[in-house]
Amino acid sequence: MPAERPAPQPVHYEVRGPVAYVTMNRPEYRNAQNSAMTYALDSAFYRAADDADVKVVVLAGAGEHFSAGHDIGTPERDAHLPFERRAGLWWDHSDKRGAESRFARESEVYLGMCRRWRELPKPVIASVQGACVAGGLMLAWVCDLIVASEDAFFADPVVRMGIPGVEYFAHPWVMPPRIAKEFLFTGERMSARRAYEVGMVNRVVPRGELAAATRDLADRVAEMPRLGLALTKRAVNQAEDLQGLHAGMDAVFGLHHLAHAHNAETAADPLGGMDVRAMKEAGTR
Ligand code: ZN
Repeated sequence: MPAERPAPQPVHYEVRGPVAYVTMNRPEYRNAQNSAMTYALDSAFYRAADDADVKVVVLAGAGEHFSAGHDIGTPERDAHLPFERRAGLWWDHSDKRGAESRFARESEVYLGMCRRWRELPKPVIASVQGACVAGGLMLAWVCDLIVASEDAFFADPVVRMGIPGVEYFAHPWVMPPRIAKEFLFTGERMSARRAYEVGMVNRVVPRGELAAATRDLADRVAEMPRLGLALTKRAVNQAEDLQGLHAGMDAVFGLHHLAHAHNAETAADPLGGMDVRAMKEAGTR
């Protein structure tokens, strides 16, 4: 029997000094997130949280792009498969139908997972290059700090699907509401420089300096005491929640699923007939 080639790991994990580096590893698909990657990310974050020697976590994407979003069309798309659920107690989606299936799945793998990761009690720094689109935004936004390279761009084109933004609706908290409306209404790319101007990212550096700049920032943060960092992170997150982030997101999640259900009722599919090519063109304009 020929030896089977081991499946490539969707996430790479490495500890260097006090910093855990979690790297999305599907560069051939611009790090599109399938469920296998989601659960591998969750395992990596859990491992980093559990390791007393890890003070800071870096989230990066291998290749030319941070993440082009959720997997809506690679050969390893696995949205229909069951996975061991970790973010909540909603039941398995894979043997359910319609809105019940979508709501259960997205509660777990999108909103639930992102909220879980946001609560990781150690600072997480996103290191972003190239595309950070739709579901990619969710990953960058759950991080505490964002270092972007000059070529990085951010976009949420899912309004083209008739849907009010991605499932983790942080838009009006990570940028001013009027800018969030422009970002969503146009679906156009926001450059790293513009993202810096509106306060969405912490640093913009040349592409060749991204890894070093992220490492320098991580090492500097890692000099702080562990509990001090954990409590400070919780303090700021609580302030964001008091500004309505948590409750606002729950409210929008209902609108998001109204849109999916409307699409399923009236269009070709819950994504409003938008396929990978259409979204890719929309997201790269
Ligand atoms: Zn959705």
